[in-house]
Amino acid sequence: MKRKILVSACLLGHKVRYDNGDVPCLDQRFLKWYEEGRMVHICPEVTGGLPTPRPDAQLVGDRVMTGAGADVTKEFDIGAQAALKLAQHHDVALVILKQDSPSCGTLFVYDGTFTDTKTEGEGRTTALLRRHGFKVFGEDQLDEIERELALIDAG
Ligand code: SF4
Repeated sequence: MKRKILVSACLLGHKVRYDNGDVPCLDQRFLKWYEEGRMVHICPEVTGGLPTPRPDAQLVGDRVMTGAGADVTKEFDIGAQAALKLAQHHDVALVILKQDSPSCGTLFVYDGTFTDTKTEGEGRTTALLRRHGFKVFGEDQLDEIERELALIDAG
């Protein structure tokens, strides 16, 4: 049986983003993996106890802050730990998370100035998963993911 893939819930159309929205990934390859029953999902921020909708938050140094100055690091880290547990429980082949998010970003995140400026970096959940050896990709890296999955599935 093919191994599972952990994905950001908002990529599957769950309305869990800070603005109450979603960002469904409609690429045929992503949909095929979903239809094969390979996906397990999580929204680390909601699992960490934050509401939807919620204030926009960004990484600021080693903390996660809202634009109004509230420190939500604890909630983000609870969510990251839950994602790690899920990935370990299912022994996932790899992880696909939503690019740019302070939890799920894999290559880029917002720079903490709340000026709509992105910078290279990774979200709290991505960083934790990588520290534990999981391969984490953004939804904008599907060619790479497809190659990696083919290798993993071939065993
Ligand atoms: S925390 Fe991740 S899964 Fe949840 S809305 Fe943000 S990007 Fe999507």
